[in-house]
Amino acid sequence: MSLSDMTCPFCGSSGILPVIYGYAPFDILVRADRGEVILGGACVEPSQPHWKCSACGRFIYPEEGDGE
Ligand SMILES: [Zn+2]
Repeated sequence: MSLSDMTCPFCGSSGILPVIYGYAPFDILVRADRGEVILGGACVEPSQPHWKCSACGRFIYPEEGDGE
């Protein structure tokens, strides 16, 4: 799934930002500073959201991989 095809399931905005986990290289830090990506922290857990909507601020979780 590419970002350009994504829209927010809550508000329909296409302003979806990827949430980056783990080690973030310098260019990612620069993009985060611009508000282009979200830094999710160093801990990587399966239940974490993969994207955040920049319009409504809600986190978006992948539909697949729901282990319930
Ligand atoms: Zn939204």
